[in-house]
Amino acid sequence: MEKDCPVLYIVVPCFNEQEVLPQSHQHLSQLLEEMVAKGNVANDSKLLYVDDGSRDDTWEIIDRLSGDNNQVAGVKLACNSGHQNALMAGLAAAVDHCDITVSIDADLQDDINVIPQMVERYKDGCDIVFGVRRERKSDSWFKRTTATMFYKMMNRLDVDTINNHADFRLMSRRAVLALLDYKERNLFIRGIVTKLGYKTDSIFYDRSARTAGESKYPLRKMLNFAIDGITSFSVKPVRMVFMVGILFLIIALIMLIYVLTAYFMGRAVSGWPSLILSIWLVGAFILIGLGIIGEYVGKIYTEVKNRPRFNVDTTVGLEKD
Ligand code: UDP
Ligand code: MG
Repeated sequence: MEKDCPVLYIVVPCFNEQEVLPQSHQHLSQLLEEMVAKGNVANDSKLLYVDDGSRDDTWEIIDRLSGDNNQVAGVKLACNSGHQNALMAGLAAAVDHCDITVSIDADLQDDINVIPQMVERYKDGCDIVFGVRRERKSDSWFKRTTATMFYKMMNRLDVDTINNHADFRLMSRRAVLALLDYKERNLFIRGIVTKLGYKTDSIFYDRSARTAGESKYPLRKMLNFAIDGITSFSVKPVRMVFMVGILFLIIALIMLIYVLTAYFMGRAVSGWPSLILSIWLVGAFILIGLGIIGEYVGKIYTEVKNRPRFNVDTTVGLEKD
């Protein structure tokens, strides 16, 4: 592996991005050329565009760019598979050709000018470098608040995510290989990369607004993404059901005392004590039962995800020659 002058692949998922792709490409290829000229990265570095089943001319544009310029490669997915899957497809295609990958959205809302700094951090020994937004002024109020709420909730639920880091990151070849070992269908890449255990660092930048085209993440997709993020990493919601069951049991005990006092003071209407106690007790048992079943379902879930158990950093004394 070449550390001083690594081969860099910039992986860009694109879904219906015909408006923004030509100008994004101009910026990216200019940056790549500069980096090659300065000797920061090897000259067989490439831009890899992944067409995520676009219905517009995105693929035609990628195809043309690749014909004109041998620094451009493309992967076309047969149908729309979602941002995270498109990104995985791009990383999988890139990993055998390069030493490092940088993933970035096609709209270039993330500042590409920090990519050279990311590469520097890689040379200093980091395997993963996160691009982190310093502020989100350019996003709408709604997007900002929902995103902040989302990150807060994720942290509460013990899912490790880097605040304000989307999918703009540098990953070394071995980090990508480790990521590709996660075979699960419900992908939430930014939750996985923090689990790989390799040395990481963050670079801060200001996020700008989309220059053309529309956001491909409407509220519906954002909600799905959030739910995927939570349910692929945390069984805490199931524990909550169990805790509510316990809470109901406590309430049932309090009701028992209340009902008994009412009964002995002669204030209880006939039939009420048994009814009210049954409601709380049965409710509590049902919830506790659901919680217990949920724990087992959670275990099955972690088993079927078949995640790697560990990730080796280095070894000594095991080399073949
Ligand atoms: N994207 C994709 N497949 C999808 C939706 C989005 O590959 O089904 C890509 C899109 O082309 C862009 C990136 O994912 O490169 C992020 O999308 P967008 O910028 O619309 O999201 P936002 O920045 O609004 O969260
Ligand atoms: Mg965007």
